[in-house]
Amino acid sequence: MRKNIIVANWKMNLNLDNAIALVRSILDNLSFENQPEIIFAPSFVYIQKIAQMCRDKKNIFVASQDCSANDDGAFTGEVSANMIRSCGAKYAIVGHSERRMNFNEMTNILRLKVKQALAKSLNVIFCCGESLEEREKGIYLNSIKSQVSDALFHFSESEFSHIIIAYEPIWAIGTGKTASALQAQEVHAFIRSIISEKYGSNIADNISILYGGSCNPSNASKIFSQKDIDGGLIGGASLNATDFVAITSSF
Ligand code: PEP
Repeated sequence: MRKNIIVANWKMNLNLDNAIALVRSILDNLSFENQPEIIFAPSFVYIQKIAQMCRDKKNIFVASQDCSANDDGAFTGEVSANMIRSCGAKYAIVGHSERRMNFNEMTNILRLKVKQALAKSLNVIFCCGESLEEREKGIYLNSIKSQVSDALFHFSESEFSHIIIAYEPIWAIGTGKTASALQAQEVHAFIRSIISEKYGSNIADNISILYGGSCNPSNASKIFSQKDIDGGLIGGASLNATDFVAITSSF
């Protein structure tokens, strides 16, 4: 079923004490009524602790920010989907633009990462988004289509039903520039339409598609009020308990 979801992507921020304090403060202040699903995406090294803190909380889960493209084995420094799952995470983010840009993660790697995550029973939050140049040239929908279809459209219907999409225009991430609600809605509707063409309207209607890119308490309600926007992937504002709680009540 299509759900409203808010993901807190902490990126490489917070020490362990600060991470624990942030989660405590958020849990203490959530209204829990009509609350969307909330997913904390801490650094790998905090997953187990944060998952423990959220274990008995309704609709609150943990994601990794990435996962290895490989199965367990001789890959020093890597973290496998198996390890992530065993620490209590339910989701893995794959394809964040910071990983695509800084670590050169291309479609072939992303396909393997998604495959690993799904095989180890992690749901996937798959990120896609166009560059400023692609938007200005008017080729942003082509870019989104190839990012989504090249990485995901070989999966079966049942595998695909464990995937959430996050549309994150690169020019809006961490820049303070947000896509307007209408710009975001256009792309979300487009993503839903290509999913419908490939997997049918039932799967397309039920998949959650999140917006990410400088989302904050003042713009969240307008963005989330759009028909095809089911929540957000929040970076900077997820590091502040008051702002994050306000975003979770913006539906
Ligand atoms: C992100 O990290 O995916 C993100 C959207 O960051 P920010 O909210 O800071 O733009």
